[in-house]
Amino acid sequence: MNLVPSRPPVLTLPAFTTAHSHAFQRALRGKTQRPGPATQDDFWTWREAMYRLVDGLTPESVEAIARAAFEELYRCGVRTVGEFHYVHHAPGGAPYEDPNELAHRVVRAALESGLRITLLRSIYERAGFGRSLARGQDRFVDRSLDASLRAVEALQKAYANEPRVRIGLAPHSTRAVNPSSWKEILGFAGAHAMPLHAHVAEQPREIDECLAETGKRPLEFLADEGAISSRFVVVHGTHLLEHEAAMLGQARSFVCMCPTTERDLGDGLPNLGALRSSGVRLCTGIDSHVVCDPFEDMRGLEVHERLRTRKRVAAARAGHPAAELWASASTEGAEACGFHGEGPALTVRTDDPFFAFVDDGDELDALVFSGSRALDGLLT
Ligand SMILES: [Zn+2]
Repeated sequence: MNLVPSRPPVLTLPAFTTAHSHAFQRALRGKTQRPGPATQDDFWTWREAMYRLVDGLTPESVEAIARAAFEELYRCGVRTVGEFHYVHHAPGGAPYEDPNELAHRVVRAALESGLRITLLRSIYERAGFGRSLARGQDRFVDRSLDASLRAVEALQKAYANEPRVRIGLAPHSTRAVNPSSWKEILGFAGAHAMPLHAHVAEQPREIDECLAETGKRPLEFLADEGAISSRFVVVHGTHLLEHEAAMLGQARSFVCMCPTTERDLGDGLPNLGALRSSGVRLCTGIDSHVVCDPFEDMRGLEVHERLRTRKRVAAARAGHPAAELWASASTEGAEACGFHGEGPALTVRTDDPFFAFVDDGDELDALVFSGSRALDGLLT
């Protein structure tokens, strides 16, 4: 134990990235934590509350909520956000005069909060196999696939000269996109070399429905359509099987986990060991903004796996787990969002009492496994 550390007074680290965010869901904070009238409270009942929120959003409130969410992220050390943006239209589904009105407001909120943003423009065609649109969902659906792709092109053009903005494509999920649309969507993303993000295997029901419709699990279906590449980001991947992890690892694809949201929604625990050993690149996302603390999402990867396997897996692996986790929560997320090369950095004051009794050389381990946003003052 070193009571008088001789360490330099600051540590410089890559700033956090949250590679999967739905900023408007920040307004659900505190609203979904009491039992409702349903006998079962799960992801799908939470989603009904989320749709009620969507129903009342205006362009002004979308921007104000995003601004609050992004300013909070900035205070926690986040400098890059992947915003999976899927509320596009007015209530009832009519496009705004500028079909990208809401996207522009979200981008503006990010830039004014000091963040870089990848606007992952979603494509959402249906409620699900054999299901009709629920109230609120009409705000997600474009008039045609062509209209969706034209909106993406318009966004690319609008931000072509803004280095803090990237545009990516986000076909929502196999549930919400018609099987016949994927080829064109993937061709478009490939031609523009865009980041491609999709929710995959978050819920068993989504997997069952995809099996019923296509005879394949979601990731198997997407692999056959040609989705898997080094630009592909699987969001959640909670219920992926080992052969699916292997396909993603081989292509150097990403899996973006959102531990604080996944545990809030009761999604389940992913098989992180299989993903790690396959070579998948891991990153993290705040997703529903239920907890705004990048430390929690970062170490959630590791400590949730410890709960699942009842092992202290960090001790059983080679390498430096804290360094890998920080990379997942920062540079890997930025890569998943299409920001390559050196990005924003944070400096951490190591003369803070937080580091008392921490040995020289263990500062990163202390930060990753014991730090929190409560240390706002540590990060500049
Ligand atoms: Zn999501």
